[in-house]
Amino acid sequence: MSVQEMEKLQQQEKESLNLFLSTQTVIEKAVKKMGYSDAMFELLKEPLRMLKVRIPVKMDDGSTKVFTGFRSQHNDAAGPTKGGVRFHPSVTEEEVKALSIWMTLKCGIANLPYGGGKGGIICDPRNMSFGELERLSRGYVRAVSQIVGPTKDIPAPDVYTNSQIMAWMMDEYSSLREFDSPGFITGKPIVLGGSQGRETATARGVTICIEEAVKKKGIALTDARIVIQGFGNAGSFLAKFMHDAGAKVIGISDVYGGLYDPNGLDIDYLLDRRDSFGTVSQLFNHTISNEELLELDCDILVPAAISNQITEKNAHQIKASIVVEAANGPTTIEATEILADRGVLLVPDILASAGGVTVSYFEWVQNNQGYYWSEEEVQTKLRKVMVDSFETIYALSQTHRVDMRLAAYMVGIRKAAEASHFRGWV
Ligand code: GLU
Repeated sequence: MSVQEMEKLQQQEKESLNLFLSTQTVIEKAVKKMGYSDAMFELLKEPLRMLKVRIPVKMDDGSTKVFTGFRSQHNDAAGPTKGGVRFHPSVTEEEVKALSIWMTLKCGIANLPYGGGKGGIICDPRNMSFGELERLSRGYVRAVSQIVGPTKDIPAPDVYTNSQIMAWMMDEYSSLREFDSPGFITGKPIVLGGSQGRETATARGVTICIEEAVKKKGIALTDARIVIQGFGNAGSFLAKFMHDAGAKVIGISDVYGGLYDPNGLDIDYLLDRRDSFGTVSQLFNHTISNEELLELDCDILVPAAISNQITEKNAHQIKASIVVEAANGPTTIEATEILADRGVLLVPDILASAGGVTVSYFEWVQNNQGYYWSEEEVQTKLRKVMVDSFETIYALSQTHRVDMRLAAYMVGIRKAAEASHFRGWV
């Protein structure tokens, strides 16, 4: 490993440790505000289980590469654990732990009968062939097979994983157990028991949060200028929904850079040209940096990429009056405070991105009952969950005079805390 690679790794580890520690800080505040005991905080501040695995994979050139993967299960008092698996070079153990805690909170907010789980593999799928990805996906399932299952822990897509990867994982699990097991994983292709509306669910949920947030701020969605950081599953569908709703999407970005047009971007064209990793900016000459994108003059800013994007360094420069977090952890605690002081309405990740796991739950229910719903049925149920969750959290933030993040943690922690209490754990 070169000195530069080493420094990058150390930086990533530092950032994910900060992410984890700040999650614990907000959990502690929420536990106190809700009047739970110190023992409850002790229980909820760390995942119950964390499995680290090594996965040997035969690469196309005949060599063997050994990948490191994780599966974290935060709390299973309210039901099996649930959450995605990400394939990304910067995955760390601390990050996966924090993400699994956030899944408990998301499931609590949406009132789903689950606790939080999360998985990750350190790899760069952009540099891997289809065959290598399939072998890695199957290897991961074999490595974690003892602790996952339809009534134990149910994986799903996350950063750089998709329905094809879910299909391979489901097939591997079904082969290991020797029975068909669609309820082992969600986010599957429709033909393998996936749900209508799952692919667009995160973006739909974010859209509903934006619709509610503009009402609170007295802005008309049709007059709004929107900037979206990230053009993956959440960001790209969101751009489409916002564009179709008559809002002006003036900025989007991918990992390489951003595109800006104050008159509104041609979203249909960009969607047509994006690749499966959500990259499109390299096709253009005039791009801006991701840092510049976040500070563009706009009404609504949606970080839909990775964590740690809005920090104390740039929070004062954010022009948007509404920030809706479609990604997990894009805003640091310090930046959350700065934005709150400046009167920016921040809709936190554990609320805004809960649409994905909500429709995953619908998928699992359909798998369990073997009876499948129409797209309209899924959309109506999703809308109800998102609007109710938004209103509950908004109202709590007003009555307790706290920002929406803390209010969301307070609502989100309740289910796991009460289930743990009734089970006699605390
Ligand atoms: N990975 C998504 C999330 O972070 C979805 C999880 C799921 O569908 O279980 O919410």
